[in-house]
Amino acid sequence: MKEYMIIQGLKIEVERIHYEAVKPMPPRPIVTLVCCCCGNLTEGRQWWNRDTGFGHCNACTERYDKDTKDGEKNDCFGFKGEHYYIKS
Ligand SMILES: [Zn+2]
Repeated sequence: MKEYMIIQGLKIEVERIHYEAVKPMPPRPIVTLVCCCCGNLTEGRQWWNRDTGFGHCNACTERYDKDTKDGEKNDCFGFKGEHYYIKS
């Protein structure tokens, strides 16, 4: 359905934003993933930028934490504590 506003005497077609569409998605379940670095099994949540079924294990996270910044890892592995390195 088209909606219009009158702005400074001009009739302008506007699009109403449907706020229901921007509600956050429910969190993905914690699943068993294969570490993309060492191949060990680990618990985590699938990250969109990682092949399906792969994650990042705690041992590799601790090793990589020493020489990378969180921002770099967010692209590759997701968010620490949410997608990998989950405390149980
Ligand atoms: Zn690993």
